[in-house]
Amino acid sequence: MRRERKRFKACRKCKALNSHDAQQCWNCGGNIFTIHWDGFVMILSEESAVMEVLGVDKVGYYAIKII
Ligand SMILES: [Zn+2]
Repeated sequence: MRRERKRFKACRKCKALNSHDAQQCWNCGGNIFTIHWDGFVMILSEESAVMEVLGVDKVGYYAIKII
């Protein structure tokens, strides 16, 4: 997984994981990213309880923690 995670950067605003060549966050449209993040969750269902915990409202990949 270590190699895998380097392919992503996390949005500082909403924690969504974006590919490294993304100019804008697919989730919130923000453009401030960080490669310093730890752990991630994949939200598969819009009814996921995790969404409430993370404060997100779209299906996708999110970093758990911005370092
Ligand atoms: Zn975002």
